[in-house]
Amino acid sequence: MVDIRSVHKSFGSLDVLKGVDLTVRTGEVTVILGPSGSGKSTLLRAVNHLEKVDRGAITVDGALVGYRRSGDRLHELREREVLRQRTRIGFVFQNFNLFPHLTVLDNITEAPVSVLKRPRKQAAEHARLLLDRVGLADKAGAYPRQLSGGQQQRVAIARALALEPKLLLFDEPTSALDPELVGEVLDVIRDLAARGTTMIVVTHEIGFAREVADTVVFMDDGRIVEQGAPGDVLDRPRHDRTRAFLSKVL
Ligand code: ATP
Ligand code: MG
Repeated sequence: MVDIRSVHKSFGSLDVLKGVDLTVRTGEVTVILGPSGSGKSTLLRAVNHLEKVDRGAITVDGALVGYRRSGDRLHELREREVLRQRTRIGFVFQNFNLFPHLTVLDNITEAPVSVLKRPRKQAAEHARLLLDRVGLADKAGAYPRQLSGGQQQRVAIARALALEPKLLLFDEPTSALDPELVGEVLDVIRDLAARGTTMIVVTHEIGFAREVADTVVFMDDGRIVEQGAPGDVLDRPRHDRTRAFLSKVL
């Protein structure tokens, strides 16, 4: 589903991704761990072409992210084409990023109506179904400020699902939440995993990684240091840097 090959990315003189290779298979959950500044968000954003890579390539479901091939030449996608490509890849941010001036229902229907040109009524019906699935059937008319952080994040997940993405990316979806609200968001992500949703999740929730991940990836200093089954990477890490990191977060 996702193929990341030799990806390099610098910001000025700062090399942030130094040759990352990663494959995510359809229906699998990959959890990325690593210290602050190791490049986790940059990698995730590159998958969605929110960051343009300097070298290497990323394909999602066979399509090159951000480019179109014609013959043996690569053409950068236009803004509108990038937006369309992005609708196939859901992104859930740490800080929810809901539209504050729109109701919960309108937050969810906005992109299906404006980007995918779905009829508003059909989009609203789908949105209500998704709200039910994330446990917020009674909040369709509320505004984001009237919701708890956990509820806002569940709306953000419903909004991502409304575009029926092939892939969902989560960048520390629970780290802005009060501890007692973390569980309700992880429950929703766990449910998506059980339904076979392909996901890449950056998180420090080790218990969640152990339970839900098919693959755990440990990044440090712009590289993947180690990856494998959760039982291997979390319980029998082979690298000192992985061990040192885990001893701090566990
Ligand atoms: P955290 O756990 O704190 O979220 P991270 O692993 O997600 O860290 P990134 O956000 O990918 O790390 O950042 C990696 C490095 O790249 C950091 O040193 C950061 O300051 C730098 N960086 C990220 N985005 C930019 C940018 N747009 N311009 C300049 N530097 C950036
Ligand atoms: Mg980050």
